[in-house]
Amino acid sequence: LVSRKKKAEDTVVMVKGEPIGDGGQSFIVGPCAVESYEQVAAVAAAAKKQGIKILRGGAFKPRTSPYDFQGLGLEGLKILKKVADEYDLAVISEIVNPADIEIALDYVDVIQIGARNMQNFELLKAAGAVRKPVLLKRGLAATLQEFMNAAEYIIAQGNDQIILCERGIRTYEKATRNTLDISAVPILKQETHLPVFVDVTHSTGRKDLLLPTAKAALAIGADGVMAEVHPDPAVALSDSAQQMNIDEFNNWISELRPMVKVK
Ligand code: PEP
Ligand code: MN
Repeated sequence: LVSRKKKAEDTVVMVKGEPIGDGGQSFIVGPCAVESYEQVAAVAAAAKKQGIKILRGGAFKPRTSPYDFQGLGLEGLKILKKVADEYDLAVISEIVNPADIEIALDYVDVIQIGARNMQNFELLKAAGAVRKPVLLKRGLAATLQEFMNAAEYIIAQGNDQIILCERGIRTYEKATRNTLDISAVPILKQETHLPVFVDVTHSTGRKDLLLPTAKAALAIGADGVMAEVHPDPAVALSDSAQQMNIDEFNNWISELRPMVKVK
């Protein structure tokens, strides 16, 4: 069902009234993890000023080490929702447990399924069973066929509001945290009718690459770019090395603005 052969026209995903995949290009920005109301509000204010419509923030963090900050959980979703309402933004947050999908409906506009859960089939089915947009990230070592099959699990349950997100894959290269597979964008656009985003933060793990990779993503035809922004990355509880501060974010967006396609 995700195949272009089944449906030739692009699927437009509606996020709180905003179309994704209609030919325009947009951004999702926000901190790696929700840490406090003030932290999220600071990013929301900056995002709003730049005309961005979707705010991200992790409440349930799938960390590599069990001793790292695991996120604020439901409290994090509540903070996101409060900030989103105040700034009239849509919010996206990762859900890791199928049992939390129902609860999330009250707080988020887009359910994120993270790279580590791309083949958590019960989670995919649970996200497919609700009527809420889903942003599905490519698994750490998933082929594009496996990625599309994961999206198929969601659409098979009746939910076609799916955004695919390339976030880098694991290779032998150590210069970046993951290897951004930029060709995944046109391939996924050709093979499926779903919108495709590129997460430049997790694919590179490097601040100095956020601008060139975002340019590449926009130039190659991605429907949008995701990046992490934190008011004070040095004290961030996760991904402190690669989040932009507000000034860096403003510069980043200004550099990208001329090439963003608007519908
Ligand atoms: C995230 O976006 O917060 C995240 C954990 O990304 P990924 O699942 O791509 O690693
Ligand atoms: Mn992160």
